[in-house]
Amino acid sequence: MREGWGRVGVSGRLDNDVMAETGVTRTVLHVDMDAFFASVELRTRPELRGQPVVVAGAGERGVVVAATYEARAFGVHSAMPVGQARRLCPQAVWIEPHRAVYAEVSHGVMELLRAVTPLVQQVSIDEAFLDVTGALRRLGPARQIGERIRAQVRQGFGITCSVGIGRSKSVAKIASTRAKPDGLLEVPPDQTLAFLRPLPINALWGVGAKTEAALARLGIVTVGDLADSPLPTLVRAIGQANAMHLRAMANGQDNAPVVPERDEKSLGAEVTFDTDLPRGPELRRALLQLVERSTQRLRAQGLMCRTVGLKVRTSDFTTVSRARTLDSPVDSAKAVLAVAESLLAAVNLHGLPVRLIGVRLENLVQGEGQAVQLTLDQAAGPREPAALRAAEAAADQVRLRFGPKAVRPGTLVDTLCLEDDRQERR
Ligand SMILES: [Mg+2]
Repeated sequence: MREGWGRVGVSGRLDNDVMAETGVTRTVLHVDMDAFFASVELRTRPELRGQPVVVAGAGERGVVVAATYEARAFGVHSAMPVGQARRLCPQAVWIEPHRAVYAEVSHGVMELLRAVTPLVQQVSIDEAFLDVTGALRRLGPARQIGERIRAQVRQGFGITCSVGIGRSKSVAKIASTRAKPDGLLEVPPDQTLAFLRPLPINALWGVGAKTEAALARLGIVTVGDLADSPLPTLVRAIGQANAMHLRAMANGQDNAPVVPERDEKSLGAEVTFDTDLPRGPELRRALLQLVERSTQRLRAQGLMCRTVGLKVRTSDFTTVSRARTLDSPVDSAKAVLAVAESLLAAVNLHGLPVRLIGVRLENLVQGEGQAVQLTLDQAAGPREPAALRAAEAAADQVRLRFGPKAVRPGTLVDTLCLEDDRQERR
């Protein structure tokens, strides 16, 4: 986990420079699913809510991969050998993991977060940092953003998450841990030190049992103790790098930026409907909306795609994926929609209504003006008309300035977008 703090991307350094120049206080959210795998399992086993439930592979040699809070009360935790967990909590209900489902829910949650801001750094399957500093004017106070995310995760995926808000990633992460389960904790910037100081040192990200023991021998038990300790003493006990890093964090000095993934191999969006939809105009509208969202993100990153993928899940939970690779890359909603619609038309739904539909853009290449490789792509076939691309790019600019509702095809009903939710309430 520790390495994550030291890595600073180019954009991150720029962000920090801007922060330093303007004196803006960063606002970071840490969003963390509660007992993620177990919570996902309980969606299909609601009768087990409130009971100790352990998710673990078959056989006595396996380890626990997740446990509900009721099972944790017996001392069960993830990575614990199955045999030990059985002894601690013999009455627990055991469920085998369904990793494909977890990956799918994770993907959906991350998509939801990226609809709030592109500044999302996923740190594991079920947690991510969001830098909302630049989004506060658009989306409202951080606490409101956090509560909206919590509501959307609950409604959209049937699981709960906890949100920590602070002026840095480390403070936000500690806050979400304190908010668990199903809570939100905001640490106002001017209360950061008051919040940190009474905590045990293992609350700091990266303090393991060994560091904890070494510091305890010096009488350093709380974060406040650590903050007040002379650096040479700490260096002798836990080494130079560790000492500098932990002492800075204990003093609330953590400028590590939220670094969004730079090397996305694909991007997309999907939606699970409250009520399954038959083939028809409503399904088509949903598809258009997903195409719009994903192509906006594509263009925002200066990318184009060569492959358009479609995923359809019918009411019987059968999932079909189709993809088509184009001769030349595209980035307009119109071009992607044409492909997605023809893929959908070719899917045999067996007369069943659709439960989930998703669009995925793959084979991403740098857009115009950035990559030399594009001249090769251009040679490969006809490109999208420049006028169309220019029109959609202009619409992106308007959306950036005035919000997502400013430019939309008239019939769209947006069910996915946080910004839109807010505007509807105004
Ligand atoms: Mg979690």
